[in-house]
Formats: sequence, C-alpha cells, structure tokens
Amino acid sequence: MTNLKTKIKVGDQIEVIKGKDLGKKGQVEKILREKSRILVKNINLVKKHIKARKGVQGGIISVERPLSIANVQLLCPNCQKRTRIGIEGEGKNKQRICKKCKAPLASKTEVKNK
Ligand SMILES: [Zn+2]
Repeated sequence: MTNLKTKIKVGDQIEVIKGKDLGKKGQVEKILREKSRILVKNINLVKKHIKARKGVQGGIISVERPLSIANVQLLCPNCQKRTRIGIEGEGKNKQRICKKCKAPLASKTEVKNK
C-alpha cells in the first residue's frame, strides 16, 4: 500500500517549501515511499556525535535526514521555477512534464534503472 502522491524521482532538483531549510535547493538522493519521505543531498542536516573508538576518529559529523515530501516541491530544470508535475502521453510514451512551461522532465536515473 502506498499513499505517495508525488511524482518526484531520484535525481530531481527540489526546493524546500517548509521547515528550517526553507528555500534550500538540492538533488533527490532517495525516496522512502512507505514513509512519504525523501532524502535530499545537503538538506535537513543533523549533527551527529561520533564516539571515538579504535580506528574511528571521534567528533561531530553532519548527516542528511529524510524530510517529508509535503515539504518540498520540484524545481523545473527548464524554467527554474517551483512547479507541479504533469503527466503527458500514455503507456510507454508517458512522460512527466512541467506544469508551468510544459517542458518534459527527463530523469537521468529513469533510464538507468529500467
Ligand atoms: Zn518548467
């Protein structure tokens, strides 16, 4: 069962529209469908304390935490605006388009994975 409404895919550029990272832009690294969350490079960073162990240097590192899909919007690579995703065509010719400029939203990873 999935309640994921987004058509965002890995590799897409997004902009954060809510929360502490408001206005930040980044590339989608991972989509956690069950949790309706996505992982975006350099967004929603939290500091983690690492305890020094044998062979491991202690200290503070920053790691990305997944954020809610509701808090981001796709950034169109063509018009550079925040946009909603439309679907055009049918079957194999189905493609995502930008609702603002109507440009197709090609995903690099789409080709790689299928
Ligand atoms: Zn556009």
